[in-house]
Amino acid sequence: MRIGILALQGAFAEHSAILRQLGADSFEIRQKRDLDQPMDGLIIPGGESTVMGKLLKELDCFDDIQTRIRNGLPVFGTCAGLILLAKEAEGGKVQLGTMDISARRNAYGRQLGSFSVTAEMKSVGEIPMVFIRAPYITAVSGNAEALAEVDGKIVAARQGNQLATAFHPELTDDTRVHQYFLEMISAAK
Ligand code: GLN
Repeated sequence: MRIGILALQGAFAEHSAILRQLGADSFEIRQKRDLDQPMDGLIIPGGESTVMGKLLKELDCFDDIQTRIRNGLPVFGTCAGLILLAKEAEGGKVQLGTMDISARRNAYGRQLGSFSVTAEMKSVGEIPMVFIRAPYITAVSGNAEALAEVDGKIVAARQGNQLATAFHPELTDDTRVHQYFLEMISAAK
């Protein structure tokens, strides 16, 4: 299995380390020609959603990635990656907009922007969740399903082959969310 990790900006390196632990290969996507490689799934990491969206356009990768996701390429967005997937982005700009979720950017404010908790994620179990100036999901619609809530706010969702978490599983040593994504990919094949 070979996973592309969008590596334009943000926290991408930690994802490949976890995938390696799980026995999956990954490669970094830094420019358009990187998209020519065989890719079974895509990870959009945390960072700044506005910057990432802008770079995707400047590098002429935006439409290609959006089309592939619409056509069923399994994708996992963490934090800023969640915002990029959301079809509504309060306090930000709608980017790829492939997932029927509404995201509120920097939803926890700037002072208390970073924290960690342990909470249940459906089909995954109880996991550590690290939030860094994170969004949360204010609504899911269509086929999107909420997978986790913290303090009454939705922090993880899935819609078909798309998975999004407001938190950063790649910054913990718990590999189960990535394992769940790899299982989504296997099921999609
Ligand atoms: N605050 C960032 C944004 O709005 C997301 C933060 C993160 O990815 N850790 O894009």
